Amino acid sequence: MALNRVWIPSPNYSSRGGATVTTIVCHTAEGAANIRDLGAWFANPSSQVSSHVGIDDTPNTVGEYVNFDRKAWTAANANPWSVQAELCAFAAWTADDWAAHPTMLDNTAAWIAEEAARFGIPLRLLSASEAQNPNVAGVCQHNDLGAMGGGHWDCGPAFPIDHVLQLAQGGGRPPAPKPPEVTDMAAPCTVTDSDGRQWVFYKGPRGELWARCGSDAPFGLGGNVTDAISVIPGPRLQFDVYAYAPNGDLWSRHAEGYDWGDWYAV
Ligand SMILES: [Zn+2]
Repeated sequence: MALNRVWIPSPNYSSRGGATVTTIVCHTAEGAANIRDLGAWFANPSSQVSSHVGIDDTPNTVGEYVNFDRKAWTAANANPWSVQAELCAFAAWTADDWAAHPTMLDNTAAWIAEEAARFGIPLRLLSASEAQNPNVAGVCQHNDLGAMGGGHWDCGPAFPIDHVLQLAQGGGRPPAPKPPEVTDMAAPCTVTDSDGRQWVFYKGPRGELWARCGSDAPFGLGGNVTDAISVIPGPRLQFDVYAYAPNGDLWSRHAEGYDWGDWYAV
């Protein structure tokens, strides 16, 4: 699913001067707590800085500030051939700090994958010398750009770039889909799991099935179902979900916690 890009335009950009985009660069914003605060800073002409996107903990969503075909202002002389994201994070974060922001890492991976596809850039990590060569295409952090990039140290030594790149290559969990507006709660199915948590399963506006545990954000299960939903709870957060497709076929899907198997015809 494509990232939702919230457009918050920045006046701080210029022409790429004909440069081919070869390098995907990750930064830490060192202050802004979220993509809107970052956008407000970049929207100020006197800040004289920008990035193409900003990334926080909003599922499947990034802020977009500068169009990809323009030059954003965040990596000095490396800007012409770079497409760049500022993560709402700090270079001083520890590995534990980063691990506490899995959605930010998922969003970063999804953004890298989208820009790689857009520009035909391979999903490979660049060495510092490669990152400073505009003719070598790949992914790097600001610090890899060295003096050419202004001599910064972000995203810091604990940033899990290998993990993010693995996610971008499809080796990890995809970003959570954006929950739809619930327009049809006519036939929600409520069950209590073995730990006493209450789950609600319901149909979205396009017939897809959604699940919500307590007051957590809902997550999508896909499919195309009618109102005839039944959910059979098993031990330890296991569920078997049954639903009828519009043609009357019965389908089922097994779940353990948030890991859901594929739908299969019963
Ligand atoms: Zn930076």
